[in-house]
Amino acid sequence: MPEDNSKDILIEVKNLKKYFNVGAGAVLKAVDDVSFVIRKGETLGLVGESGCGKTTCGRTVLGLYGATDGHVIYEGVDIQGLKGKAKKDFTKKAQIIFQDPYASLNPRMTVGDIIAEGIDIHGMYRGAARTKKIYEMLDHVGLNREHASRFPHEFSGGQRQRIGIARALAIEPEFIVCDEPISALDVSIQAQIVNLLIKLQKEMGLTYLFIAHDLSMVKHISDRVGVMYLGNMMEFASSHDLYEKPLHPYTQALLSAIPVPDPEIEKNRERIKLEGEVPSPINPKPGCRFSARCKYAKQICFQERPQFKEVEKQHFVSCHLF
Ligand code: SF4
Repeated sequence: MPEDNSKDILIEVKNLKKYFNVGAGAVLKAVDDVSFVIRKGETLGLVGESGCGKTTCGRTVLGLYGATDGHVIYEGVDIQGLKGKAKKDFTKKAQIIFQDPYASLNPRMTVGDIIAEGIDIHGMYRGAARTKKIYEMLDHVGLNREHASRFPHEFSGGQRQRIGIARALAIEPEFIVCDEPISALDVSIQAQIVNLLIKLQKEMGLTYLFIAHDLSMVKHISDRVGVMYLGNMMEFASSHDLYEKPLHPYTQALLSAIPVPDPEIEKNRERIKLEGEVPSPINPKPGCRFSARCKYAKQICFQERPQFKEVEKQHFVSCHLF
C-alpha cells in the first residue's frame, strides 16, 4: 500500500479487487489488489491498453460496481457500506462522464431535461431556479441557451460530450470519473474537450479521475498518473516523473509508442515493440502479469507477483527489477 502523507486526500483506494464469475469456475480478475490515493483538486490519470481494468476500477471507486474485496474511503468513509440517504448523498458528490456521448444521452429527452436529471433526482432546484441552473451549465460548457429545448440527435459528438459534462456538473459534485471522455471523438475535438475539463476544474474546484488509453492526452491533463495492466497497477508517479523517467518495462513500451512531433528525432528514435496481445484476465497465471510480453522477464517473474513499492520519492513500481 503506497504511503501518501498529503493532508488533502479525497479518496483512498485500498487493496481494491473486483472479480467477475464468468461461468464454469472461471474468474475474471478485472481489478486485482490495487491501491492509490486521489488528492483534492488534482487530476489523477489512469492509463493502459483496452481490457487492463481501468474502467472497472473507476466504476468501482464510484460504487457503480460493488467491490469483491478492499476499500474505497471517501473523506474518511468507506463507500462500500453506504445505503439509503448516505448513498444518495455520495452520488451527488461523485459523478461520471461517459466515454460514448452518442449512447449516454436519452434521445427522447430535451437537452435541458438531460442536464436537469440529477437536479430533479436530488430535488435541488425547481421552476425558474431550475431553468436558470440549466442555462448556467450550458454557458459553462460553451453551448447556447436555445440548445435547452433541442434533442441530442441535433448535436455533433463534441457538443454531445459537452451536454454530458453539463449533466455531470449540474448537481455541483466534488469528484468526477472521466471515463475515456474523448476516445469516441474526432482528434480535432479531443483537445477542446480536455481544455474545457481543465477550465471547469479550475472554476469549480473539481477533482478528476481521468481514464484514457491515449497517454499524450493524459500527460496534458494529469498531475499524477497510474499505469494499469491486466488488473494490476504497474507504476504510479507524478506526471512529470512518469513521462521523464518511466521505470516499469510496460510504461516504457507504452511511452515509446507516442510519436515525437520533431521529424528528425522521430526518424532516429528507438521504439520498444510490445509483442502479442494483452493476455486474458480470466484465471491469470501466477507471477508478474506482464511476464508473457516482457523482454526482461526472468524466472522469478513467472513465479511471484512483484510487490507494489516506492522506489523513488512518490514513485511506485511493481517489478522484480526494482
Ligand atoms: Fe518484466 Fe519481471 Fe518486471 Fe514483470 S517483474 S515487468 S516480467 S522484469
